[in-house]
Amino acid sequence: MAKYIFVTGGVTSSLGKGIIAASLAKLLQARGLSVTIQKLDPYINVDPGTLNPYEHGECFVTEDGAETDLDLGHYERFLNTYTSQANNVTTGRIYQTVINKERNGDFLGKTVQVVPHITDEIKRRMLLLGKTGKFDIVITEIGGTVGDIESLPFIEAVRQLQWELPEESVMVIHLTLVPYLKAAKELKTKPTQHSVKMLSETGVHPDVLVCRTEEPLGNDIKRKIALFCNVKQEAVIEAMDASTIYEVPLLMLREKLDLICLKKLKITQYGEPNLDKWKVYLDKLKYPKSKVTIGLIGKYIELQDAYKSILESFIHAGSVNEVKVQIVNVHSEFITSENVSEKLDGLDGLLVAPGFGVRGIEGKIVAVQYARESGMPFFGICLGMQMAVIEFARNVLGMPKAHSTEMDAHTPDPVINMMEEQKKIKMMGGTMRLGAYPCEITEGSLAHAIYGETNISERHRHRYEFNSSYLDQFEANGMKATGVNPETGLVEIIELPGHPFFIGVQYHPELKSTVEKPAPLFVGFVGAAKEFNEKSHSIKAGALRDALI
Ligand code: GLN
Repeated sequence: MAKYIFVTGGVTSSLGKGIIAASLAKLLQARGLSVTIQKLDPYINVDPGTLNPYEHGECFVTEDGAETDLDLGHYERFLNTYTSQANNVTTGRIYQTVINKERNGDFLGKTVQVVPHITDEIKRRMLLLGKTGKFDIVITEIGGTVGDIESLPFIEAVRQLQWELPEESVMVIHLTLVPYLKAAKELKTKPTQHSVKMLSETGVHPDVLVCRTEEPLGNDIKRKIALFCNVKQEAVIEAMDASTIYEVPLLMLREKLDLICLKKLKITQYGEPNLDKWKVYLDKLKYPKSKVTIGLIGKYIELQDAYKSILESFIHAGSVNEVKVQIVNVHSEFITSENVSEKLDGLDGLLVAPGFGVRGIEGKIVAVQYARESGMPFFGICLGMQMAVIEFARNVLGMPKAHSTEMDAHTPDPVINMMEEQKKIKMMGGTMRLGAYPCEITEGSLAHAIYGETNISERHRHRYEFNSSYLDQFEANGMKATGVNPETGLVEIIELPGHPFFIGVQYHPELKSTVEKPAPLFVGFVGAAKEFNEKSHSIKAGALRDALI
């Protein structure tokens, strides 16, 4: 039978519950246990698919096409295993299930209430993955902060499970903040005490406290927290700010978080943690040999979380290439043909980001043109690929009004148009082309060299596609479709063979990049940026030498 670890958060949001959950899972996995992580989100949206990235950051898409919370991305990147729809449940989804049952008459005339009907449904979801028989441990991260009205039913469900299941089957980790007051030169434990008190009032007592802190806690502070929060001193875990999230598993290992959990859950069969690959990765990440600068052209650049998986993929690819990848955010709304060379000069590569809607589109097209003409490595993802197609149509094929019908429904040259199956869809949530689809790659193409194989599968999230009726014109003029869906012929990859590195993909390679398996396209792109950087340095050095002679 699976065992359950619940992770709650206190004091403030953004303490990194997802990273703590993923780090603990990594350690347990490294000890030979089979672990999965799920996230329960207290908001009413059925899933985050309809949320603006400014609200909730990136929407992470799973293999089975679920639009989920970005924390699932961290779980996959750390564990190198897939999650699914079952790993992310919101209050909206819980209510939707219960209300559908009520409409079906399944409650046989009973009054439907938060307790027991909503909490029963929450508990069913909490136990679902554990019942598949695939996992020794299921870690459940409860979104929000203890004390929020909307997370109460989730906490109540944890309380009931603690009572219903054997003592060694359930445990609760509470993540809090121990702030350092500079003026007093002191760490303060009171917010943690209050947070644990608030959690205890709901009937849930934490077994472990993970304390985020800027300064080492020391034994005195740990003892004080243990005494006033009524947990064992060994169960007060220091979580110091780390230079990278990928260091957190090692910090947690040092603090013995995994051993404390194994002891509480009375799990006796486990090995020494095998983190060799992780350590090699981390070493290369922390001690890069050189640096490349990549321009990220997007319209949500004010919010780092909007492009989370892309940023993490660059970190993975940087480690493989032993370079530090510095990202320069360039707001697409402010790029014009007048200022483009000034804005993009000095970069080693350009990534045009995914997105929706017309805002910032023209700037993206100008940026693509700059990369195409200057030979700067270019990588377009989803909307970024579509912009590369539009730019080529306008500036090479002589179709000045070419566009996507997403932005201009009446364009005379709809080189990107809505997929046929999308045309009849009216509902917004979960209706795009989502999840994993196969792609067949042309032999001898850049994509082939990068992937090293001709049959791949990548994840998607889009409504529009390359309009195949224009394909011959594109190919005749040098833009090749080097990856297509084998069943439908939908264009998945475009390339410009004469360019040092110019590739656009309709899918989202960033969604499958993990520490152990970095996304090949990112690795290739960073490699090309490194070459571009070395070349431009040697050209500059040559010019300087010539000037001195
Ligand atoms: N808006 C485009 C589409 O729906 C691209 C989507 C994306 O970049 N994820 O096809």
